[in-house]
Order: sequence, then structure tokens, then C-alpha cells
Amino acid sequence: MTLAYVGIGSNLEDPRAHILRAFDELARLPETTLTARSSLYRTAPVGHAAQPHFINAVAALDTRLSAQALLAELQGVEASHGRQRSFPNAPRTLDLDVLLYGAAQIDQPGLTVPHPRMHERAFVLAPLVELAPKLEIPGIGPASARLAQCAAQDVERIA
Ligand code: ADP
Ligand code: MG
Repeated sequence: MTLAYVGIGSNLEDPRAHILRAFDELARLPETTLTARSSLYRTAPVGHAAQPHFINAVAALDTRLSAQALLAELQGVEASHGRQRSFPNAPRTLDLDVLLYGAAQIDQPGLTVPHPRMHERAFVLAPLVELAPKLEIPGIGPASARLAQCAAQDVERIA
């Protein structure tokens, strides 16, 4: 079994409902157990500002799927939420990213782990550190230290 962390984001069509449904769908993935769900976080959009705010969260999974198979399953869940890919950082009904896959460092076409931008995004680091305060990001260092460097980013934990 490998402990993997999945980043979850949505900013269209009742984002909170998409995130809560995504947790349930992650719990039903093959060869996988959902072991933790973070709180939900409200986030200002990054990159393309003229769009609704995001809701973000992180899930912890124990899985026997390979990282590639896990990503394929996540893309299937995104598609079932009507995810359209239009332009980078566009609004989305559901975005599921493989943040970490155990201690693996993967650099393949279509799959980079740790997720290449996770260590500079408070909306990833805040829910991740909530679940795993002592987590080390392979090749980067303690997640909590990176979160401390993101203090200027607008992320609010919601009930
Ligand atoms: P983003 O999440 O960066 O806003 P997308 O969700 O549209 O963008 O993903 C773009 C591509 O990123 C996908 O086709 C996928 O193959 C690739 N990708 C590379 N590494 C990862 C990862 N760790 N998790 C999710 N997608 C990844
Ligand atoms: Mg993505």
C-alpha cells in the first residue's frame, strides 16, 4: 500500500457539493481506502483572477494502484463531474491532482509527482498540513515550512 495525497479543487456550480461528492467517489476507488479528508478551504483564484473563488481540500488515500493508474482514476472522476479543459487555470467543476505518492519522485509525460506547484500554493499546503503536520515533500522539505512562506496568500478554512 502507498499513502497518496490528492488535491481537490472546484469553483463552478456549487463547489462545495462537487468537493463533498469527490470525497465519496475517492472512497470508492478500486484497491484504495480513503483514510482522511481535510477541512474545506475558500481560496481566491490564482492565475486567471476574473472567476469565482475556489473551494479546495486534500484527501489521504491508502492505495495499491500505481501512480499512473491513480491519475487515470482521478481523471475519470473529473470527467463524471463534467470537467472541461479549455485553458490553463480556467474555472473548473472539479480538479483532482496527485500531490504525493508515498516518497516517490516521478517525472513522466503527463505525470509529475510531487505535483510541481504544490509547494508554493497555500490552498494545497494548508489542507495538507492539517492532515499531516510533519509531512516532508520529497525533494522540497517540510510542508509546514513552505506553508509559512505562503502567508500572503488568501486562504480561509471554512466549517
Ligand atoms: P491543473 O491541475 O494544472 O490546473 P489540469 O488538471 O488540466 O491542470 O491538468 C493538466 C495535465 O497535468 C493533465 O493532463 C495531467 O496529465 C498533468 N499532470 C502532471 N502531473 C500531474 C499530477 N501530479 N496530478 C494531476 N495531473 C498531473
Ligand atoms: Mg489538475
